[in-house]
Amino acid sequence: FLPPRRILMGPGPSDINPLVLNALSRPTVGHLDPLFINMMDEVKSLLQYAFQTKNAFTIALSAPGSAGMEACFVNLVEPGDKVIVCRNGVFGDRMKQNVERIGAQAVVVDSPWGRAVETEKVADALAQHPDAKFLAFVHAETSTGALSDAEALCKLAQQFDCLTIVDAVTSLGGVELRVDDWGIDAIYSGSQKCLSCVSGLSPISFSEKAVQVINNRKTPIQSWFLDQSLVMNYWSGDGKRSYHHTAPVNSLYALHEALLQLHKEGLENSWARHKAQHKVLANGLAKLGIEFIVPEEERLPQLNTIKIPEGADDAKVRSYLLNHYNLEIGAGLGDFAGNAWRIGLMGYAARNENVALCLTALEDALSQ
Ligand code: PLP
Repeated sequence: FLPPRRILMGPGPSDINPLVLNALSRPTVGHLDPLFINMMDEVKSLLQYAFQTKNAFTIALSAPGSAGMEACFVNLVEPGDKVIVCRNGVFGDRMKQNVERIGAQAVVVDSPWGRAVETEKVADALAQHPDAKFLAFVHAETSTGALSDAEALCKLAQQFDCLTIVDAVTSLGGVELRVDDWGIDAIYSGSQKCLSCVSGLSPISFSEKAVQVINNRKTPIQSWFLDQSLVMNYWSGDGKRSYHHTAPVNSLYALHEALLQLHKEGLENSWARHKAQHKVLANGLAKLGIEFIVPEEERLPQLNTIKIPEGADDAKVRSYLLNHYNLEIGAGLGDFAGNAWRIGLMGYAARNENVALCLTALEDALSQ
């Protein structure tokens, strides 16, 4: 298979930095090779930097973001537990499904599609359900392009003695995220969004409180592969590493390189770059008369959800961009299918030349 060189400006995967692609093709070593184990230790500390945490339990799962989500729920939540789940798009709904499959009770707090999670509603739900053990929410809802106030939501959860489970699949590296300062207990992300790495890895991190909850469970974790107490024996630095599964060796080289690049740029600089490129895109879209769906103060810089202009054919425009410009933008998802486009400015894709190309190509496609 010889793929064309596309420019990926959809909801992910994003464009991969050539240095990361290069790292993928380095010689494979054994997944218990001492040199590889050293590299895994570096991946752990680079992930601690990216998440802004000192959590010892900070690793990359050998599976995509959906597995990171499932790992957080199956390790922490037990049958019968009550979990407050914020739903303002597709991924909040998947959290609810995870809770229910465990046999736990999901108390859903709905906020409108295209808007941030409404903190007042969450405060009401926490007050009404003092027995809730967890508050779960999506920091950056990729299906709608809305950014929620993770810091405020975590503060609320702490007031009610609830642990937080946070989806940072699209937020990590793209917007401000501070796991320790905000007191997040369990967080998961994905490699293919603002980290601009190959898809299929899920960085996760658990606070000490979360690890204690896992260690004091009354029921066994129903998933063998996602049982983090077993995975930790492979990732942990003390003593001998024991075989759990065969790690995706070359993909981890790629993650290591992607995290090094993030570290080199600096986290704050990366957040600022995403914001700056978003502003350039937003100005250009305004000139084309294209409107955003999400109110300005709740917009994700790395995922721009715009209304499909009247008279434009959704599928035809997207295929025109792909066929004439090798440019991929995302279709609407869920409630927004057929009404919205999602323009990603994630990681390596958040660059001047990409924004300029996207605006030119979109103008051409719409005039055609
Ligand atoms: N959560 C959010 C917010 C996402 O955007 C995605 C993927 O787009 C996922 C979870 C699932 O990640 P993956 O597709 O890597 O399994």
